[in-house]
Amino acid sequence: MWKFIIVPLLVLLFLYLLFAPRKKPKQDGYIEELVKCEKCGIYCAPREAVIKDGRFFCSKQCAGVKDGSNRH
Ligand SMILES: [Zn+2]
Repeated sequence: MWKFIIVPLLVLLFLYLLFAPRKKPKQDGYIEELVKCEKCGIYCAPREAVIKDGRFFCSKQCAGVKDGSNRH
């Protein structure tokens, strides 16, 4: 008879582990400070921004940086 008690408990434990609150950084919903692209005015995350001459750009195109390969 015990298994009729233990099995639901195991299921509950399993569900608990599935849905247990995980430690998330509280910055999850936090909008990090954005920087404005000097060219097109789009705001983007600093870590994704391209910095050129101390100014932020949303992309290499806006920064005027040619993407990688130097063609001859
Ligand atoms: Zn831009």
